[in-house]
Amino acid sequence: MNSASERRELLKQVYEEAQSCVRCPLHQTRTTVVFGAGDANADLMFVGEAPGANEDRLGLPFVGQAGKLLDKLLGEISMERRQVFIANTLKCRPPDNRDPLPREIEACHDYLRRQVELIEPIVICTLGNFATKLLRGDPTGISRLHGSEEERVLGARTIRLYPLYHPAAALYTPATLEMLRADFMRIPELLALGPPPQRQPAAPPADEPEPDEQPTAESEPDDHRPAAQLDGQAAPADKPPGQLGLF
Ligand code: URA
Repeated sequence: MNSASERRELLKQVYEEAQSCVRCPLHQTRTTVVFGAGDANADLMFVGEAPGANEDRLGLPFVGQAGKLLDKLLGEISMERRQVFIANTLKCRPPDNRDPLPREIEACHDYLRRQVELIEPIVICTLGNFATKLLRGDPTGISRLHGSEEERVLGARTIRLYPLYHPAAALYTPATLEMLRADFMRIPELLALGPPPQRQPAAPPADEPEPDEQPTAESEPDDHRPAAQLDGQAAPADKPPGQLGLF
């Protein structure tokens, strides 16, 4: 397990790498890469769809009307944005706010994987269909799944996945807002459960012991988790933009 400051530092490296991402054509039309923002040590993470015009301009997730609603709902469970980490399925705005394309989702997935791996949240709330389908690896839609938590293995971690309606869908539909609000009310109880039991790493074959990996008396299961895969480019040395201050 990384310490809080190591985690923040590693997340910053992924952030720096994402700033110059050209993995999909959205880099040609974006103003800013919206990496995500919040507490790198958060127990609660939200994953939305993709930046809109405001987010693209400011470089921060959920800064428009949907974001205001998200803040309000967090307030209703006595939480604030700075206590959670908010990310998106896509880090760059699709032109005219069109739906994310499969190849964009695939190209961007690695960043989200690494964010989850580093932050190690207890609960991930997927907001809307795109994040829910991606993290569940299944096409079942949000209207069937919202409000039903499940344990899911993401990378090396088992997390509590909790699909919710996207706040934008609740802005103009009172019935959706009420469902979203009711689902939100259960977040504290899911957080209070703590992390689900984690998978034990596979033992090395008996005839090929790995001297460096012999368990010691002090070893905890988490000590064996692989380090974050930070196989990207070196961090550029220039200006730290706004999102960094929010980790
Ligand atoms: N909708 C999203 O899914 N993400 C944002 O950042 C803003 C609106």
